[in-house]
Amino acid sequence: MTKKMIKNILQQVEANHTLDKSEIISLLRIGGNELLNAANDIRKTYLGNEIYLRALVEFSNYCCRTCYYCGLRAENKNAQRYRMTEDEIVSLAEKAYNRGFKTIVLQSGEDLHYSIDEYCRIIEKIKKNDIAITLSIGEKSFGEYKQLKSAGADRYLLRIETTNKDLYEKYHPNMSYENRLRCLEDLKSLGYEVGTGSLIGLEGQTIEMIADDIMFFKRINADMIGLGVFIPHPQTPLGQSSAGDFDLALRAVAITRLILPDINIPATTAMETIRKNGRLAALLSGANVVMLNIADEFYKTKYNIYPDKSGINQNLDEMLAELETSIKPIGYKISDSKGSHLVSNKKT
Ligand code: SAH
Repeated sequence: MTKKMIKNILQQVEANHTLDKSEIISLLRIGGNELLNAANDIRKTYLGNEIYLRALVEFSNYCCRTCYYCGLRAENKNAQRYRMTEDEIVSLAEKAYNRGFKTIVLQSGEDLHYSIDEYCRIIEKIKKNDIAITLSIGEKSFGEYKQLKSAGADRYLLRIETTNKDLYEKYHPNMSYENRLRCLEDLKSLGYEVGTGSLIGLEGQTIEMIADDIMFFKRINADMIGLGVFIPHPQTPLGQSSAGDFDLALRAVAITRLILPDINIPATTAMETIRKNGRLAALLSGANVVMLNIADEFYKTKYNIYPDKSGINQNLDEMLAELETSIKPIGYKISDSKGSHLVSNKKT
């Protein structure tokens, strides 16, 4: 594949937003700055120069699952577990609202302690303010997703992690790929804005599999795509594996932007953790969302899905100041809208 051929592919995708699998593979392998810049151009055309900010609340790190890569897995006896109370969660949402956040993301391990009724109460209390709620609390039944939606939840994040069924089932004991898909379909049919995504760099994952993931994002009509780089956590079965390739993840972000020009793509914490200024690089390669963890350090240091997470020692003021300083020179600014996909959709 020559540079000229890459250029042709990029010209064509800018016009029709489709790529076939072999083109995605080529771009994943050798797409250089031309690819990243093309993604940034498309992002600007569809979403302007705004960055959508989300307040992230990781409210519990208890988890009943045993995913091979994640430090929160039930079998990690070294994890220091915590669980916020209903009041703590609601007051953090209040803090987010008062600081101008228009979206709050409630994320946790799969903690069976909270009942659906309790989640609904929390959502109803938070929704007394005009703020969008994104849930990221794992696999539930159709009926449960429905109750949460009726209580006021707007969006849901559930990464497919990998679309390769064998790899998925290898790293997620006692979970099924079909059920993961069922969850995503249920969420879509209930009218949530649905976010999914993959982990880049899992041992055994090939470029072809990542290309399949990207085609899947387009096929299910995702509203948000979060791509993380795998970072080994020592107290997990994949603790001795090597970390994912940052540049490959960046190319995956860019390709996702090319074929899904108006969706929301976060510059993930994993990207910043594995490479200094990785978040900025993602924002210049198609990403348009930043999530800031607004909890106290006590909690942030314990939500160890992987070690040495970026931002855990900074308070909210410091994080906001750093973000503002870093995006100013590239001509981006923080949006004061809710930043939902449905609004920007009108432009397509
Ligand atoms: N329990 C929720 C949220 C889990 S944490 C759910 O199941 O959706 C959010 C994300 O962290 C996961 O989707 C996973 O992609 C990512 N993650 C977990 N362990 C990781 C690791 N070692 N490196 C990078 N990302 C990881």
